[in-house]
Amino acid sequence: MIAIHALTNADLHCHSTVSDGTLSPEQLATRARANGVELWALTDHDEVGGQARALAAAHAAGMAYLTGCEISVSFAGRVVHIVGLGFDHENRALVEGLQRTRGGREARARDMAEGLAQVGIKGAFEGALKYVGNPELISRTHFARFLVDSGHCNDVSEVFRRYLTEGKPGFVAHKWASLKDAVHWITEAGGVAVIAHPGRYDFTPTEEYALITEFMGHGGRGIEVVTGSHSAAEALKYTDTALEFGLWASRGSDFHCPDESRTDLGKLDALSGRLTPVWDALKARIHQI
Ligand code: AMP
Ligand code: MN
Ligand code: MN
Ligand code: MN
Repeated sequence: MIAIHALTNADLHCHSTVSDGTLSPEQLATRARANGVELWALTDHDEVGGQARALAAAHAAGMAYLTGCEISVSFAGRVVHIVGLGFDHENRALVEGLQRTRGGREARARDMAEGLAQVGIKGAFEGALKYVGNPELISRTHFARFLVDSGHCNDVSEVFRRYLTEGKPGFVAHKWASLKDAVHWITEAGGVAVIAHPGRYDFTPTEEYALITEFMGHGGRGIEVVTGSHSAAEALKYTDTALEFGLWASRGSDFHCPDESRTDLGKLDALSGRLTPVWDALKARIHQI
């Protein structure tokens, strides 16, 4: 039994080979534990296929576990990520909704490859596919790894800057899940919905207010405050946001790969003592050892 409290080393956001990470759920669990994580969640993009393995691996490594996923949502012409925690990973509406969300990825990837071919980068679809662990989850990250390894760019962030973001040759707009559906899938499966890395969206204050209020209107209750995607200043800003809106606070590295990720599993600042950690609200959903 792991004692769960505000200072528990919880890492509730990371990715395995089931989506766009490079480590298996088992390798992540071992690494998380070695880094001191006590409560862990694997949050693959649009997919819960790794949950049973992650739960078993968490317990084998000596960690408590919360189920997780990160759902891609289209909101106000932008992509927003919603993390789900503590749901029943076999819930039918959730599993089917995620399957539909994954559905367009292959066609999108072929269109991305066409855009890249037009600027002289041939064979990007087949190239990216070599890096994919789950054929339903070909993502921009896999294209980025291919473009680095084939010498077109020096690192993954250069690929995103030059090729894979809006207005660039490999970018293809895509319709993801609605905010309402994503929040409902999570909450109706017994979990808590959390706005992932709010500092990453470049929203105006008005757009951000709209996101938070619509999210809460649908039943969303959490927000990531301390994440590998936030600077210290952003963590302070979203501490205030969580307090202002009465949202539960989450903490997660968003770890993808030892060579790419800024923040390693479990190596994060603590949440401010003024916040209610989302894991306090999820105590009954934690899979204890
Ligand atoms: P996709 O779901 O296919 O659109 O891919 C989104 C993924 O790309 C995110 O989950 C991140 O892992 C990765 N990503 C997005 N922007 C960047 C960036 N600027 N640098 C590195 N990785 C990024
Ligand atoms: Mn990712
Ligand atoms: Mn994300
Ligand atoms: Mn993520």
